[in-house]
Amino acid sequence: MHAGTLVRYLVLSDIHANLEALEAVGAAAARRPFDAVLCLGDLVGYGASPNEVTEQIRGLRPAVIIRGNHDKAAAGIIDTSDFNPIAGLAVAWTQRQLTVENAAYLAGLPAGPRVVDDLIEICHGAPHDEDAYLVSEADARVAAAAASRPVCLFGHTHVSLMLKLTADRFELARPAGGASGSWRVALDPRSRYLINPGSVGQPRDGDPRAAFAIVDTGERVIEFFREPYDVTRASRTILDAGLPSLLADRLLAGR
Ligand code: ZN
Repeated sequence: MHAGTLVRYLVLSDIHANLEALEAVGAAAARRPFDAVLCLGDLVGYGASPNEVTEQIRGLRPAVIIRGNHDKAAAGIIDTSDFNPIAGLAVAWTQRQLTVENAAYLAGLPAGPRVVDDLIEICHGAPHDEDAYLVSEADARVAAAAASRPVCLFGHTHVSLMLKLTADRFELARPAGGASGSWRVALDPRSRYLINPGSVGQPRDGDPRAAFAIVDTGERVIEFFREPYDVTRASRTILDAGLPSLLADRLLAGR
């Protein structure tokens, strides 16, 4: 896809082996046409369906996809010394489940950032460091300086938000989603953006609904969505798999 082409990108981040959430997002996205998929990493880790989720993402043939820290750990590229004990247990469980083929796919995912087109680049944590957590304004200033496109899409924190940088001033917006579950924003050509679409499979902003976004590069519009799914079933699947119960409970709370 060359510059100037009108493209509607479905943006998926932090799916975390949650098949129930990914299927709900897939059904919701199919009702709003999109042309191609961008995936910001963390396909696996925490959830109970690492093979199914990896295969579904592979089937979507993402235009651009990058790895997350959980993908790296599951693929054995890094160890889990920087992970909390529960995340480390989930990595070990995921490694035992993954097929050779899916583990190889995760191992082959490129590091971010990756440029998508003239408007967009994607990263897992931040454009200057794929594993950095973008949480403060100081982090955002470093990230904005490193970003090479007007719209930098990132994940990793599992919190849906939009940082708009105009001249030297940041504005923070949190796409609350509300009852309608959607929020549409026109992208100002005079501003630059750091945008987290939120997490498909383990939201941490207090809203358990699955998060995703669609960016229309022709209209220069981003739409944030929250999609309800069977959270109870996803959390039961985690318990049935023998994964730590905290990972089941947090899905219900969206934390
Ligand atoms: Zn993640």
